[in-house]
Amino acid sequence: MHMYDVIIIGGGAAGLFASANLTTTNALLLDHAQEVGKKLLITGGGMCNLTNTLPAEAFLSHFGNKQQRNFLLPALQNLPTDSVYEWFEQRGLRLLVREDGKVFPQSLDAHDVRDFLVRHSKAPIVTGVQIAAITKQDAGFLIETTSATYETKNIILATGGMSYPRTGSDGSGYELAKALGHSIVPPKPALVAVSIETYPFKHLAGNSVRNAWVSFYHNTESTAYDQRQKDVLFTHDGLSGPAILCASRLIAKQDRIKLSLITAENHSEAEQAVLRALNAPKKLIANALKETGMVSSLAQTLVEMAGIDKETTTATLDKTRRKALVQLASAMEMTVSSTKGFQSAMVTSGGVDLAQVNRKTMESNLTEGLFFCGEVLDYDGESGGFNIQAAFSTAYLAVKHLHN
Ligand SMILES: Cc1cc2nc3c(=O)[nH]c(=O)nc-3n(C[C@H](O)[C@H](O)[C@H](O)COP(=O)(O)OP(=O)(O)OC[C@H]3O[C@@H](n4cnc5c(N)ncnc54)[C@H](O)[C@@H]3O)c2cc1C
Repeated sequence: MHMYDVIIIGGGAAGLFASANLTTTNALLLDHAQEVGKKLLITGGGMCNLTNTLPAEAFLSHFGNKQQRNFLLPALQNLPTDSVYEWFEQRGLRLLVREDGKVFPQSLDAHDVRDFLVRHSKAPIVTGVQIAAITKQDAGFLIETTSATYETKNIILATGGMSYPRTGSDGSGYELAKALGHSIVPPKPALVAVSIETYPFKHLAGNSVRNAWVSFYHNTESTAYDQRQKDVLFTHDGLSGPAILCASRLIAKQDRIKLSLITAENHSEAEQAVLRALNAPKKLIANALKETGMVSSLAQTLVEMAGIDKETTTATLDKTRRKALVQLASAMEMTVSSTKGFQSAMVTSGGVDLAQVNRKTMESNLTEGLFFCGEVLDYDGESGGFNIQAAFSTAYLAVKHLHN
């Protein structure tokens, strides 16, 4: 039987980038979906935020925990964000660096990134392939699919996580890793919106609070487990936006989220700003609130929630209602009824246990010739080009260490 140098399983960001960087063409890329890179097409709102401009150390601070950061460091040092930028530009895909440091294709069309990677793939791509079994042999591996059997010296397992399963990343890659002896840290949806109990802002869906101050508390605890200043987006049944998405891997049902409904660096700064606005002489309360930068519909909703009559002015507002309003605007508390599931999570936290993979090569510590890259590994980055860059960097490192 023909012996391949390497077979890549999974044609997402990681698998395609691995394939584009192979030094051999005696290779195959197998994907069970009918089309590779389907998830790439929906990234960055269809524009594909493929990396950002942060240097390795700052970049890594946007990953889940210290173990993840340590694990990813060699990959990021080997292929940092500026090298990814150059990789695409030198081969002819023009990129655009936004003011906030996020990098997109100049066309702002994710298809261009996916198609570019497919065009540069060194391995022929075979789609619609169901992997039935992988067996370790003395020299390499036997891969049995429902239609063929392949022999290969190396395997790169790049099957992604299990969020947005309709894109092909459905968690079945974890079973392949398990069959080869690897432990899987239980997968959880991350970068995901939350639903809120008795949610008052359904009618405001689509509106955001820019740079709100947000504190997160487990159950009845009084010390926040996370605090951050970032945008919050109102959805039809809860909260989303960077502040929520970034904290979502930690959020559990019944947690409390306290947020300022105006831009602020902490709750007391928000409180001071609202009090200043309410000190204006003889203004309708909703109009006074708008001076803090709050949209009119949110200001009116808060006035109602504080039990204030629409005609009340800053001059006639009583102390009790004033206090209630300030509390709502500066530190509104909401209870999480649920986090959204894998269907709408942007990434998966959990996956192949990092302790069983060599961070300098991406090779399994248990099975020689087996390499992992991308989201199948137990890391998860924040929104902002972190996850695709990590997929590229881990893929690049794996390719460099394949056995001859
Ligand atoms: C809506 C959304 C928006 C996002 N936006 C961004 C963004 O702008 N920037 C960013 O950095 N990240 C973003 N992400 C995250 C990013 O898309 C992923 O982290 C990244 O695609 C992971 O790459 P991967 O190659 O590891 O996995 P994937 O891209 O998920 O690819 C895995 C591939 O493996 C195949 N596969 C799975 N199991 C098997 C199997 N058993 N056999 C054969 N093939 C298999 C799948 O069909 C798929 O083609 C976003 C994610 C979502 C869902």
